[in-house]
Amino acid sequence: AKAAGRNGYAWFSEEMASRAKQRLVLEQGLLQARHDHSLTLQYQPQIRLADGAMTGVEALARWTHPEIGVVEPDVFIPVAEETGLIEVLGAQLLEEACRQGAIWRASGLDLHLSVNVSVRQLTGSGFIDILDAALERSGFPAGRLELEITETAMLSLDKTRGTLESIRERGVTLSIDDFGTGFSCLSLLQHLPIERLKIDKSFIQGLPDNGSSLALTLAIVSIAHSLGLDIVAEGIETPMQQEQLGSLGCAHGQGFLFAPALPADAIPGFAASRPLR
Ligand code: C2E
Ligand code: CA
Ligand code: CA
Ligand code: CA
Repeated sequence: AKAAGRNGYAWFSEEMASRAKQRLVLEQGLLQARHDHSLTLQYQPQIRLADGAMTGVEALARWTHPEIGVVEPDVFIPVAEETGLIEVLGAQLLEEACRQGAIWRASGLDLHLSVNVSVRQLTGSGFIDILDAALERSGFPAGRLELEITETAMLSLDKTRGTLESIRERGVTLSIDDFGTGFSCLSLLQHLPIERLKIDKSFIQGLPDNGSSLALTLAIVSIAHSLGLDIVAEGIETPMQQEQLGSLGCAHGQGFLFAPALPADAIPGFAASRPLR
């Protein structure tokens, strides 16, 4: 049954009769991932659009299942969320990211570090203890850490509000990920302890020519500015997009134009190749 090896798609379609079985395999793999180090992080550079300097990184989970091979985050993160495994796996990843951030700092590379956090983690028990442990054990400064939460976190705001405020009290900042794709209640934005909005790549991808992409991007930038929030545009793939977003007043961006997510040891070299800050 393991013969198809690296070709996950073929393996799934030919040998896995039911979705339930596929799921079970992913679930069992994720259970193992707590121990077998198959779940790791790569880091996508974040760029200041005005001068091209690298100011930080976003940590992105990468998983190589021992039999299926590489599984995309869009496939395994939802399984981890639904099974609740995201709580323990997310805690491990948060600490790993902080440890890596501390290693870069020790070598003189001061980077802003963004880590994705699921609603399930925020509403689960003990997230603040997990955060404190990660900061303490790694020595990474709270003020350089940002947690990215999706708009759906706002839907469970009654459950997460206290946690979000405790996060801010520690000096850790919050950003709203995939902004524009969820169901934001815009009036909530001004009451949430957030620092940045990340414009979803689906809007950026239509730039510069698609009229409605441009209109939505403009609207998001103007909401962010009027609330005093910083903006990160994700999914920048062309110099035109960089230029347009920069002139709209979007301070930071990330995307394949600059770099995909890279292994940790490639980050210092990439930083050195960018204009100096
Ligand atoms: P996201 O947080 O919105 O991350 C951005 C995604 O866009 C990443 O996909 C990244 O590789 C991809 N990307 C970056 N630049 C470009 C570009 O220029 N063009 C295009 N087409 N794509 C670009 P990835 O790594 O596959 O992650 C997918 C999603 O999985 C993430 O979306 C995030 O929601 C989730 N995820 C990843 N790692 C974690 C994690 O550690 N914890 C949690 N809770 N979720 C995670
Ligand atoms: Ca993100
Ligand atoms: Ca995003
Ligand atoms: Ca996403």
